Amino acid sequence: MKIENSSPARLVVVSNRGPYYLRMTKQGLKREKTVGGLVTSILPMLEKRGGGVWIAWGERAGRYPGAAGPSPFDLRYISLTEEQLQGYYLGVANNALWPLCHSFLGRVHYDDTEWETYRQVNAQFAEAVLEEAHDGEIVWVHDYHLALVPHLVRQARPESRLLFFWHIPFPPVELFRTLPWRREILEGLLASDIVGFHIPEYADNFVEAAVEILGAEARGDQLVYDGRNTQVLARPIGIDYEAVSRTSRARVIEERARRIRQNLNGQQIILGVERMDYTKGIFERLEAMERLLERRPELYGRVTLIQIVTPSRNNIEAYRQKKRETDEIVGRINGRFSDGFWMPIRYLYRSFTPAELMAYYRAADIALVTPLRDGLNLVAKEYIACRPEADGVLILSEFAGVSQQLPEALLVNPYDRQDMVEALGRALAMEKPEQRERMLLMQKRIKEQDISWWADEFLSRVDDLAAAKPIHRYSLGERDMKPVQPMPLVGIG
Ligand code: UDP
Repeated sequence: MKIENSSPARLVVVSNRGPYYLRMTKQGLKREKTVGGLVTSILPMLEKRGGGVWIAWGERAGRYPGAAGPSPFDLRYISLTEEQLQGYYLGVANNALWPLCHSFLGRVHYDDTEWETYRQVNAQFAEAVLEEAHDGEIVWVHDYHLALVPHLVRQARPESRLLFFWHIPFPPVELFRTLPWRREILEGLLASDIVGFHIPEYADNFVEAAVEILGAEARGDQLVYDGRNTQVLARPIGIDYEAVSRTSRARVIEERARRIRQNLNGQQIILGVERMDYTKGIFERLEAMERLLERRPELYGRVTLIQIVTPSRNNIEAYRQKKRETDEIVGRINGRFSDGFWMPIRYLYRSFTPAELMAYYRAADIALVTPLRDGLNLVAKEYIACRPEADGVLILSEFAGVSQQLPEALLVNPYDRQDMVEALGRALAMEKPEQRERMLLMQKRIKEQDISWWADEFLSRVDDLAAAKPIHRYSLGERDMKPVQPMPLVGIG
């Protein structure tokens, strides 16, 4: 069943960040797309489905009907105070769950006061869901910021149809155990009908944690806990392949790509695109580039790394520190190898529109996607979709979730500089027929497993579950979490 052809239940999407920034202009309120993997994927899915509401945190709290904008779904933005953002977003989400789930235990910071705020904010989101969702509608909660929402909604409305997708890795149980609020997170998620992850490894880690920490029972792909069944499903999120591929062939993008290549005088172009984040392996990649240049002087003047870095979370010291390190190593490498005409690294530190990025994807001979850990990685998929001639080489970290879908990429261990240097050497020398053979296989898979496929894998199952299953009352027994506190809704107009 394809979503476009059915008449789907209305969807209530819930995530920390909304799909648009709302900016007041002279012409009225303007919507500007936000940058990030989640929005890039979910927005086209919701647009295609043609109805629903997206609940998120936003500076301009309120309810914005879809008719006023380009998309047919409504927006509901929740306002959070500075203190709430500090505890819930910077604290628990970015300084506890993010490093924990990416297996950076040394960067983890657990703070009980911040956890209280996290609960409070989750309750605020749950309250908005209860107001927005009507009978038979599907509530789809996204990501680690909102892990308690399914439980809070289920408690208030047991018959709800609840999906949860966890967009980052789920860590091995021996790491997850360190989290002081491990039970609440697991119980929060298990109130969903379906919990989704990108790849089986994360789903297995989650099942193991639920079994070992909560004593849940694993039966096939179901977890049985407290009288309810939750299906655990691993499906990697897709991109809107057709749209990306089509747009990347537009004349204006081809022209931009041509200019990028022309500016670099026909050198081989290696491309990196990521948010500034310690998980992305930007520093390690630059070191590999430095080593490549040390060993291969014949490459001087013949190869350039364009490294795009999008500012991210720069109110956190660990991120500012990474930025300083990156600035420094780029300066060092360029200072060391430039000859006044040629500069090995073009370092672009700002946010790019999808169309601008596409020109770089089109221009690049090699995409270097080497995170130390990444839930999936959409940049790799976008590069593949933007290669109409089926050429180009993808060098991909084996620690990016997407590597499971793309065995035809040159897979590397990003912690191993020598491995990276060798992969770069191989990529620079790869003949067109081999590039083509690999690229065609990758394109076929990423095209098949696109955003509609991914959404349908979840939504069709939740429809089936709702039709087949009697509704159980949900209770948590002795270790009940605090009930939902009725919250006044702020700024809804
Ligand atoms: N992106 C963008 N502008 C930028 C940098 C990135 O629009 O300047 C988009 C990029 O096209 C991709 C997403 O942001 O769709 C990044 O997703 P990914 O899964 O690679 O990483 P995340 O940032 O979610 O960790």
